[in-house]
Amino acid sequence: MLTAVCKPDLVTTAPVCVLGLGLIGGSVLRAAVRAGRTAWGYNRSADAIAGSAEAGFDTGTDLAAALIRAADTDALIVIAVPMPAVDSILDAIGEYAPNNRITDVVSVKAEVADAVARHGLSPRYVGGHPMAGTNFSGWSAADPDLFVGAVWVVGADDDADPDVWRSVASLALDCGSVVVPVESREHDRAVARISHLPHLLAETLAIVGASDSPLALGLAAGSFRDGTRVASSSPDLVRAMCEGNAEALTEALDDALLLLRRAREELADETSTRTLVTEGHRARTRYEEHERFEITDVTPGDPGWLADLRAAGRKGGVIRQIRVASPG
Ligand code: NAD
Repeated sequence: MLTAVCKPDLVTTAPVCVLGLGLIGGSVLRAAVRAGRTAWGYNRSADAIAGSAEAGFDTGTDLAAALIRAADTDALIVIAVPMPAVDSILDAIGEYAPNNRITDVVSVKAEVADAVARHGLSPRYVGGHPMAGTNFSGWSAADPDLFVGAVWVVGADDDADPDVWRSVASLALDCGSVVVPVESREHDRAVARISHLPHLLAETLAIVGASDSPLALGLAAGSFRDGTRVASSSPDLVRAMCEGNAEALTEALDDALLLLRRAREELADETSTRTLVTEGHRARTRYEEHERFEITDVTPGDPGWLADLRAAGRKGGVIRQIRVASPG
């Protein structure tokens, strides 16, 4: 099958309806508008988005109105609320816009996919997770540059519809990201290690540092600041993502505890930290040397496209342009 780079069309330039205008949803709205999309957003509280309308953004607090407009214009709906709020948002989508394409930005993917399935909305859903953020929350922290150069995971589960997939990937590219295709449960196992465990370790470091005399905090510099940065994130958000990924996070935590227990023994018995420090340095170097390549040979909709995308994503493949089958 011949492939070509996707030309702008209704799928890839669809209007965007963002539900939840905090750090991530607000940034999606701003980035989509900057990319030339028609985009509007809903937020449950007016105070939290004060100033957004004056700044020229199409925002409001009427969920039904936002979704009816999405249904009328065949918009891509982006769910950008914490996991505990996803069910109520899906209820509303089921009522007002059940045929629209849907994606989300929630930090866990299997739990969202299960909720979407319970609402009977799976055929029009492809999950997403922009791997970008800060420890700030709310519309005031939203930034159209937040996703520039970042990885944006786009779900490659077995039942993904190619048109919905292209539409979601296209939004990620419009926001300046590169797309990594990943299956939901595989995503959750991976982010348990590189995101959710670091959150728990940051909380631990913060507690240990602050539990000594005030002198310790008075001397704290770069390593304490960087190691504990994400501990200043909203506790509700951190809990939602960690608790929504309990099984994979428990395994990652077990691995970390084993390493720490062994390091403690080595330090107590041999006054040495050699094993942990040597292996840790080697692992960090692997992260720094990790290379990406562009996936250019998979066309959404072709036979085996999802398995091919997943295999490429696992090896470091990213998508920078959407490909469509050439006519003829
Ligand atoms: P945020 O606190 O900045 O914004 C959350 C938004 O959800 C707000 O607009 C809030 O009004 C809305 N909300 C909360 N509860 C609601 C409810 N019951 N009904 C309706 N709306 C509700 O948080 P955020 O960082 O933008 O996170 C949003 C989503 O993005 C979360 O699912 C999070 O896991 C995911 N995410 C966060 C980051 C990050 O670094 N913060 C990165 C990637 C993905």
